Amino acid sequence: MAVSGVRMGVVGGSIAGCAMAIAGARAGADVTVYERSDGELQDRGLGIVIPPALHEELVTAGYLDASMDTAPVGTRVWLTRKPDGRTAHEFGRQPSAVVPCNWGMLWRSLRARAGDVRYHRGLPVTSVEREPSGRALIRTAAGAESYDIVVGADGHQSVTRRLLAPGLRPTPAGYTVWRGTVALSAFAGRPEQLELLRGAWVTVTFERGHGVFYLIPSARKESGGAGGERLLAYAVYGFLPAPAAGRREEAAYVRTLADEHFPAEWADVVARGKHLSLVCHPVTDFQAPRSASPPFLLAGDAAAITRPHTASGAVKALQDALCLERALRDSTSTDEALRRYADERTAEGARLVELGRRLGHAQVERTPEWHTMGPADVDTWSRAVLGGATSYLFGGPHRGADAEPPRGSACS
Ligand SMILES: Cc1cc2nc3c(=O)[nH]c(=O)nc-3n(C[C@H](O)[C@H](O)[C@H](O)COP(=O)(O)OP(=O)(O)OC[C@H]3O[C@@H](n4cnc5c(N)ncnc54)[C@H](O)[C@@H]3O)c2cc1C
Repeated sequence: MAVSGVRMGVVGGSIAGCAMAIAGARAGADVTVYERSDGELQDRGLGIVIPPALHEELVTAGYLDASMDTAPVGTRVWLTRKPDGRTAHEFGRQPSAVVPCNWGMLWRSLRARAGDVRYHRGLPVTSVEREPSGRALIRTAAGAESYDIVVGADGHQSVTRRLLAPGLRPTPAGYTVWRGTVALSAFAGRPEQLELLRGAWVTVTFERGHGVFYLIPSARKESGGAGGERLLAYAVYGFLPAPAAGRREEAAYVRTLADEHFPAEWADVVARGKHLSLVCHPVTDFQAPRSASPPFLLAGDAAAITRPHTASGAVKALQDALCLERALRDSTSTDEALRRYADERTAEGARLVELGRRLGHAQVERTPEWHTMGPADVDTWSRAVLGGATSYLFGGPHRGADAEPPRGSACS
């Protein structure tokens, strides 16, 4: 028997917030979203990768528009710089099917599918409270509203999580990630690299760090074209020199890292390519001890953040939503639905935080001698790094359970 007709308030209207709003509405809830920002969220135009099976499920279930442009590829290529020069050495190639998306287009598609819910833009939630009746209160500058369920989808500094897990602090990894998007003009005169990226995503390794590169769809206004255009998205992981410089210097340091460690053609793209965006921040992780405590539940980054090597933050947020919809449909009370949700999603958050630490350790903190490795070594090393865990980013025998939507679980 389904839980329907309940009032559901959602704090945060980004990827997790919009996906949870769709889930609630599809299960028959009356949904209101509160988003602090009054700017254009679609302008956060960075790259996001998701597994093909999840993309397909979201389209089939009606969360995503089938016409949303993506840039799927099926292979992961491992490169490093030859020790005696600046040329690239390819030392591994693995099957790894991923669906790269433009973050802004993904948000816009979810937002459109959440079209019927009340979505308050520019209205920050100042606090969430438990009412004596067992319901939940959301306070904003516009007043206080009472709900049967409140979803905290308000990111890493969630006010909702502060209520459920006061004092929880992120654990720093000790290194930094730089994320950027670059116009494809950076590949002028380098057709081989561009051709490689049309069929694969690329990991460029170095001692105590690496970068990942992939193409994503470009929103029209970025390219000025008619659609179907691509941008290069990258994430580079490494250590800042101590003492840390100012924010501006920290962001620009990725150019130095690239020049020092990448093969010339990839260094040029990062160091001299025309950037449409560039951000950097310390890598951290954390997980709330439990993803729900009725009438509250946490979704996306508010519930858990894993180191980005797993490429799973948005994936998790989207799976959170699919889980909530199933739990609401299959339960007889909101308490039961939220308990089912918490059982499944807390375990998944813990799995991903652990996986992120394993990958960060092996790909940044204690890297192997990449230039001595060949294809068989990459497979052996991948297996050892995963230690029995699975990830959709490591193809072949390491293909993850997270490549498939979580079926047959507490929420199904
Ligand atoms: C380097 C890097 C690479 C990544 N790559 C991938 C990838 O390939 N694949 C993947 O799946 N994930 C990836 N991620 C993770 C992914 O980007 C995030 O997990 C995801 O975008 C989080 O979405 P969210 O909606 O939970 O949080 P957010 O996007 O942070 O949204 C929170 C929203 O809540 C709003 N808000 C906050 N406080 C309030 C308040 N008090 N009242 C109202 N609104 C509020 C904010 O304005 C914001 O819009 C990556 C992350 C990084 C750092």
